Amino acid sequence: MTSTVDLSARTSELLAAVGAAPLDHDSGLAATSPITGAVLGHVPLTSDVDSVIAAAADAYRSWSLVPAPVRGGLVRELGELLREHKDALGELVSIEAGKIVSEGLGEVQEMIDICDFGVGLSRQLYGNTIATERPGHRMMEQWHPLGVVAVITAFNFPVAVWSWNTVLALVAGDTVVWKPSEKTPVTAVAVQALFEEAARRAGVSPAVAQLVVGDRAVGETLVDDSRIALVSATGSTRMGREVGPRVAARFGRALLELGGNNAAIVCPSADLDLTVRGLVFSAAGTAGQRCTSLRRVIVHESVADTLVDRLGTAYSSLPVGSPLDSSTLVGPLIDEAAHDGYVDALERARKDGGTVVAGGERVRVPGAEDGVYVQPAIVRMPAQTDVVRRETFAPILYVMTYSDLDEAIALHNDVPQGLSSSIFTTDLREAERFLSAAGSDCGIANVNIGPSGAEIGGAFGGEKETGGGRESGSDAWKSYMRRTTNTVNYSSELPLAQGVTFL
Ligand code: NAD
Repeated sequence: MTSTVDLSARTSELLAAVGAAPLDHDSGLAATSPITGAVLGHVPLTSDVDSVIAAAADAYRSWSLVPAPVRGGLVRELGELLREHKDALGELVSIEAGKIVSEGLGEVQEMIDICDFGVGLSRQLYGNTIATERPGHRMMEQWHPLGVVAVITAFNFPVAVWSWNTVLALVAGDTVVWKPSEKTPVTAVAVQALFEEAARRAGVSPAVAQLVVGDRAVGETLVDDSRIALVSATGSTRMGREVGPRVAARFGRALLELGGNNAAIVCPSADLDLTVRGLVFSAAGTAGQRCTSLRRVIVHESVADTLVDRLGTAYSSLPVGSPLDSSTLVGPLIDEAAHDGYVDALERARKDGGTVVAGGERVRVPGAEDGVYVQPAIVRMPAQTDVVRRETFAPILYVMTYSDLDEAIALHNDVPQGLSSSIFTTDLREAERFLSAAGSDCGIANVNIGPSGAEIGGAFGGEKETGGGRESGSDAWKSYMRRTTNTVNYSSELPLAQGVTFL
């Protein structure tokens, strides 16, 4: 399959299908596919980031005054176009990010879902009214647009994370400048073309959401620019450690969505059929390259051997190969550096007394010699050592045992990251304890579902080194707006708060 598809030609067809300009440039950012390592084309670099920011700041002045339900009309057009072009964009995601087709399509579906959410939200930007202590007064809060939002995204969700941020920002009355990962510029160009068509149909200036293509330095320009009110940055904890203080230094706002080290606790009462399916999808799906990928299993000692045997059996039948092949479940790693990280982590785990019980090898896929494919690994660990406590962005699942739930929860929380988590149990007390304040310390905590695969309706994000940001559903929109508290005196007196007398 891989050898018979010319990925560069197919990319051109798909770009044409979504109305994007062809990549017929000789220079610029070279876009490659992790499927074969093939160069897909060159994406022009943005030479004048300053002008883009200026145009976004200018567009903000009028866009912020458009009534929110009318702003929702632009998001509705975008959602319709994404529905129409779901297959083409999903395939592009597979080609450029290496996701299996079903996950590439799922990522586009997530964009459609957030557009639906955004249209409804555009009529629900509510504030509170609050009881005042003064007679003849009314106190209320209003939410106003914030300004220009920079959206910096990672390679592994090359299109959905843009939409989580951009849809909320546009509905909120903000304008957007997007810097995608340098590893996935082609999908960004495709999304931008669809957005510009949506803007044309809605009669809105495309300057309300623009794209800048370039490396980390372009991201740094956005981070340091005081015309940008909010920097929403998704990526590694290393990146967040640089971005957070720089934005804070100019009193900007940062919304950080960083690395995870997600675990599942498996209790003695767990339904093992369901558990094994949930764990395998979360750990091996997307070749372990989700921020929410399952990386640690903490299993009760009474069921540990059975669980590991069953996981091993499931892992031995996982088809690794081209993500465009419909039978594949595990596609490639993004690049050789990711493979180095995989090999290094396995070596360290072995040194720490770990035993690799499944996978751990590189896989050669015919016709894709320059693609980086690995067999997802399971490693039994005697303890939660340093290598287990850090995020390795590859499919390695560490298994540790526990004897009582307090110990399991302590082990669960004893990592620097705090994104997603889960417990598999049929015991109500165990489940509720895990969800309580004394349980998981993560932003997402699930019962009888693995840690990956969130829906857009809930707020998404995590604590500790994951950065504390919340995107997507629930009231995450508040991050993209500024709150004003208003007190109105409709009486003819001037009573002062706290009973203060003056004049
Ligand atoms: P990365 O940190 O290498 O890059 C992410 C983005 O940040 C890229 O666009 C990059 O150009 C930019 N960047 C890097 N350094 C920067 C700086 N100093 N200033 C401004 N911009 C900078 O991450 P990656 O390898 O593309 O993605 C994988 C990582 O992202 C993993 O750690 C994963 O857990 C994390 N991630 C987190 C979430 C989440 O929602 N929490 C979602 C997806 C991915």
